[in-house]
Amino acid sequence: MYTWEELKQFADRCTRCPLCRTRTHPVMGRGSLKADVMFIAEAPGRQEDQQGIPFVGPAGHMLDELLAAASLSRDEIYLTNIIKCNPPFNRDPSDEEKNACIPYLKYETLLIRPKIMVCLGRVAAQRIISPDFRITREHGRWTERKGYWLTAAYHPSALLRDPSKVEETRRDFLAIRDKLRELSL
Ligand code: SF4
Repeated sequence: MYTWEELKQFADRCTRCPLCRTRTHPVMGRGSLKADVMFIAEAPGRQEDQQGIPFVGPAGHMLDELLAAASLSRDEIYLTNIIKCNPPFNRDPSDEEKNACIPYLKYETLLIRPKIMVCLGRVAAQRIISPDFRITREHGRWTERKGYWLTAAYHPSALLRDPSKVEETRRDFLAIRDKLRELSL
């Protein structure tokens, strides 16, 4: 088993997929290594690529607002992505890139052992929950698998593009808080 620092060192030198040629910084997950809740989005954006930190900029502010509404903070969750390097022009990551990078997420999950995994957006939900997951219809639903509770919410970037989705996403985040209470966490 690897430590978080070892995983970060691997990612910093990683050449397992073509994104290593265009990234500025790989973006490892951040947060509590004892978190009960892990949030998983699709890939770092341009600002994250520049700073090497997940969810900075306007999408990060939106995420912080949603977390606060659910009485959560970044210090008590773990926040990561399916792939660790920014796809140029923020395109969807390819299957090749996702397959190359998924071991990092597997090791992060083994290290942290969260009780709840929240997919942020379609790409993460289709990789983690089900390949045919429809985020518009199925966000907020819960599934238990191998001891993990899985759910999905809209990606904060989607809320910046369409603020009409903010209220239902806030309800999904409140349901995360309720699930934590239900599990006595
Ligand atoms: S996206 Fe993942 S697999 Fe590809 S170079 Fe970056 S860290 Fe390595």
